[in-house]
Amino acid sequence: AAKGAGRGKHCFYEPSMHSEASDRQVLENDLRQAIDKGELWVAYQPIVSAAGEDVCGFEALVRWNHPLRGRISPDKFIPLAEECGLIGRIGTWVLETALEEAAKWPDNVRIAVNLSPIQFNDPGIVDIVSNALNKTGVRSSRLELEITEGVFLAEGETTDDTFARLKDLGVRLALDDFGTGYSSLGYLKKAPFDKIKIDQSFVRGAASKTSRNSAIIRAIVTLAESLDMDTCAEGVETHDDLHLIRELGCSHIQGYIFGKPVEGEDARGIANSSRVEAEGFQCVREPRQ
Ligand code: C2E
Ligand code: MG
Ligand code: MG
Ligand code: MG
Repeated sequence: AAKGAGRGKHCFYEPSMHSEASDRQVLENDLRQAIDKGELWVAYQPIVSAAGEDVCGFEALVRWNHPLRGRISPDKFIPLAEECGLIGRIGTWVLETALEEAAKWPDNVRIAVNLSPIQFNDPGIVDIVSNALNKTGVRSSRLELEITEGVFLAEGETTDDTFARLKDLGVRLALDDFGTGYSSLGYLKKAPFDKIKIDQSFVRGAASKTSRNSAIIRAIVTLAESLDMDTCAEGVETHDDLHLIRELGCSHIQGYIFGKPVEGEDARGIANSSRVEAEGFQCVREPRQ
């Protein structure tokens, strides 16, 4: 640390000075205000057809630029939002923001939005989704909702009903992070998924690892095909992995090799040109603002 910088000054955000609990409390209060203060924004990452390099859609990924702490990962603040009752508000804001953006893209480009299990199990979710579609004028079949196996853990009869009502609305459903949870296979028969997103832990570096990863991916693709579902391989970064994923027959690819999450304006440019090229990123980290 720079000599004298902050010495003797009380630094509110220095974690070592605070108990974990009060640090969390501070972050929670900050998050509560983040939407109104315009600190949250949505980034969009292209999802590409495996056969060509056509952009089929984008996944909306929420971002938080904290005024003092810089960029905070959604892996950190989404769980916080879930615990402190903010996920509904943030989730609805992401959904509406993403649909507003998608309304500016060519009509065949989809938008994928992540839904927390808490949002999904909210009895009002179908109305929230339907209102957001009406408000933005986006065709329901352009919206893909990404959910994880977590939705089944709090299962009640609402879950089945929600699946049916969302399908009636015409939106698509994707099972995210497939392969990482418990008894994934059981969930596949319970819900009318349109797509399986194969978790990055199977995909990244698959070409250089043992053949186990490719055997697992191949099995998931075969399973998905016989259930009439698409497959998206997440986390493809290198040409070797891209080559392997294509060979294994996944229908869609998402990963840094085709593009990192970008701001709305840049996504719009990509959506209009409708093609991206495989670049094979050396730097595997998303740039920090
Ligand atoms: P996810 O839904 O599985 O999203 C994919 C994550 O993988 C994103 O991380 C994306 O930036 C990252 N990724 C994509 N391709 C690559 C790659 O080639 N290499 C590497 N290293 N990473 C790649 P991100 O944006 O940090 O989001 C993390 C998680 O946070 C998401 O995982 C999702 O579970 C959650 N999340 C993000 N936005 C939202 C949201 O709006 N609502 C909810 N409920 N959860 C969200
Ligand atoms: Mg996702
Ligand atoms: Mg995922
Ligand atoms: Mg994930």
